[in-house]
Amino acid sequence: MPDPEPVHHRLTQWYRHAQRDLPWRREDCSAWGVFVSEVMLQQTPVQRVLPRWQEWMRRWPTPADCAAAGTAELLQVWDRLGYPRRALRLQQAAAAMVERHGGEVPADPDLLRALPGVGEYTAAAVACFAFGVPEVVVDTNIRRVHARVFAGDPLPGKTYTAQQRRLARDVFPDPEIDDGGLACTWNIAAMELGALVCTAASPDCARCPVAQLCAWRAAGYPEPTEQQRGRGQPWAGTDRQVRGRIMAVLRQGVPVPRSELLAQLGLPSASAEQRARCLDSLLSDGLAETDGEQVALPGSLEPAASA
Ligand code: SF4
Repeated sequence: MPDPEPVHHRLTQWYRHAQRDLPWRREDCSAWGVFVSEVMLQQTPVQRVLPRWQEWMRRWPTPADCAAAGTAELLQVWDRLGYPRRALRLQQAAAAMVERHGGEVPADPDLLRALPGVGEYTAAAVACFAFGVPEVVVDTNIRRVHARVFAGDPLPGKTYTAQQRRLARDVFPDPEIDDGGLACTWNIAAMELGALVCTAASPDCARCPVAQLCAWRAAGYPEPTEQQRGRGQPWAGTDRQVRGRIMAVLRQGVPVPRSELLAQLGLPSASAEQRARCLDSLLSDGLAETDGEQVALPGSLEPAASA
């Protein structure tokens, strides 16, 4: 395995001039802005997140603003970022910040992890990027960079294994250096290299700052095994696609009769049973509501008139 120190040095130097100017990375971005970005960026690319993040922060610049927002409005602003349960969890986390932390994002990774919907990755990323706490951050891009540079593997596979966790810790810079500054820059720099240069499908080794140190390159680019490829589920025909279409109709903000909603999805291959199952799952996730006939975003149906 290559010595991590020169990799740290080259990669963090490269990051200083190659990094993208993203609003949640600017010095004046609040910890809440970083928190929102980390939730939105899970499974959604930066270009799709940018306008949604800006709109979210314009409407709800603090956890208290978000906690007080209506669910239908949250889901409309979330728009097509995908996995809309994240919008509800973001609001639940905001409410917990108001209740437990005086309306502030906590800096302690343990307190962050205790918030609703916050997992290991988000807690580490927010602690590190918002507060400079030297936590080991590992996302898909970082896993791929670790796999290639240090393990000589073409791809890391779909699952985050115990071995990869050990590797991430082994190659992590000393948290004492620069008061944790090197460790935090290392996290973001490895993430940026994976996003911009060392991409899954076409790594651009000619402009890679650590090309001379990369174990996969040195080994002559061995092909990935099936397990390393870890192919994802195709999108077309999945319940995720059907749920996404239903949410797109509901986000128009007008209650729709159930039968009409299920008929207008424009997905001829989706069976009646799949459509009904997907709608029921959205209802039970709290992403939609129904009075038995009409379906709408939560909080959008008129209360039944009293006799
Ligand atoms: S040399 Fe190529 S494969 Fe290795 S880290 Fe750089 S871009 Fe990725």
